[in-house]
Amino acid sequence: MTLSLYDTLSRSVKPITSLNGCTRMYCCGPTVYRDAHVGNLRTFMLSDLIRRTIEISGGKVELIQNITDVGHMSEDVADQDKMLSQAKVEKKDPFEIARMYEESFHKDLALLNIKIAELYPRASESIDLMISMINELIVEGFAYIGSDRCVYFDAQSFESYGQISGNRLDALKPGHRFEYSDEDGKHFHADWALWKNAGKRTQMVWDSPWGMGFPGWHIECSAMSMKFLNRHINVHVGGIDLRFPHHENERAQSNAFAGSETVDLWVHGEHLLFEGRKMSKSAGNVILISDVISRGLDPLAVRLNFLENRYRSQMDLTWASIESADLRLSKLRKKMQLWGDSLESQIDEEFLAAMEGDLDAPRALQRLRTIEKSADFSDADKRARFIYADKVLALDLNRTIDAKTISPIQQELLDAREIARKQKRWSESDTLRAQLEATGLEIKDGPTGQEWSWLSRK
Ligand code: AMP
Ligand code: ZN
Repeated sequence: MTLSLYDTLSRSVKPITSLNGCTRMYCCGPTVYRDAHVGNLRTFMLSDLIRRTIEISGGKVELIQNITDVGHMSEDVADQDKMLSQAKVEKKDPFEIARMYEESFHKDLALLNIKIAELYPRASESIDLMISMINELIVEGFAYIGSDRCVYFDAQSFESYGQISGNRLDALKPGHRFEYSDEDGKHFHADWALWKNAGKRTQMVWDSPWGMGFPGWHIECSAMSMKFLNRHINVHVGGIDLRFPHHENERAQSNAFAGSETVDLWVHGEHLLFEGRKMSKSAGNVILISDVISRGLDPLAVRLNFLENRYRSQMDLTWASIESADLRLSKLRKKMQLWGDSLESQIDEEFLAAMEGDLDAPRALQRLRTIEKSADFSDADKRARFIYADKVLALDLNRTIDAKTISPIQQELLDAREIARKQKRWSESDTLRAQLEATGLEIKDGPTGQEWSWLSRK
């Protein structure tokens, strides 16, 4: 069997494709102007679940996830780049902001056991790629230079525009809020900027054949995915809000550039709510992984919560649900210890079928509950099937409270903390201590440096 996923474009569940046995995947990455919240992480975990489900049966995956560090405009302030707004707030250079939040993004992924992508290209370092793609689109008649010296994509030149989202060009009324309000130089209301003239902007601008400026957000993903995945993407992942206009525009650009359908499957994860509401600064309910850790909860409890819900359904996370998942995880790990200490893994076909059927993780977890309670499996067999399942679930089910060895992620956090202490970055060292404690370690700072032992919890 192979993994099948729901494709937003064809509105059907389709088997994934690959090239020479490798599924090439692109996931729209974080905009690094702030810490990723748990909602963003739910979407990033979706590509991890796809990867692990493919790999458990011996398949190969190559994942590219871009880092958006320029060109993503704020929804609240007209024509304001998210990076530049945040740089102003924090009184820092926008590139400093970008690197800082990029680093936190990697730490958050590690805390959720999300495997590292093959490459994380940065938009700001891919400007040449974008310029040459825009040039080609102009030459091929898909883009034009507007009277305001911005370059626009001609939406009407791309026949199947709107197929992902169901938005038809003739139904998109002028006045619909597009990304920039100052696009006076375009020919048609639904055209969008590939390259923006710098105007008065002085930071994060680059020279181009059309003068100083900066790229539009959508062209970033086209340029990076076309370059690093060689003009063909098997699986493209992002949150549901990206369906329109981001993915619609990305598809038009990439297909026009390559002259073919460039993406086999468009996969979208539904949104996460927190305590019943959309996460937003104004509602005060933006939850980060560091908030979970500060409450003494295991970040993998959040991973378990995500798995308990189908990725195509909106889900509501609450503190109560994280706390009960934290408890369930501890119980499961204790059960695993009771069942023995073998590291043998036993394939469970029902579990695999659930995951391969459009990632039905709730059904896969139900299967594990059946195994756990059943008298038909020996303890050793139960343990072996759980070890197998954990290759996909990645809940560290085999984590032992009194083990003598620590995981690579824990070692990474210990190393980072040692460096932070040497450089007297105390608040970072405290954050890392909290993260280590959440993974079950107790840290003491002695005269010879930090020492760790296993924390006895629950
Ligand atoms: P951003 O950092 O804003 O570029 O977003 C990164 C990813 O998170 C994108 O794929 C978004 O679609 C996704 N995303 C944003 N908000 C949520 C949410 N509440 N739940 C799930 N995914 C989200
Ligand atoms: Zn994208």
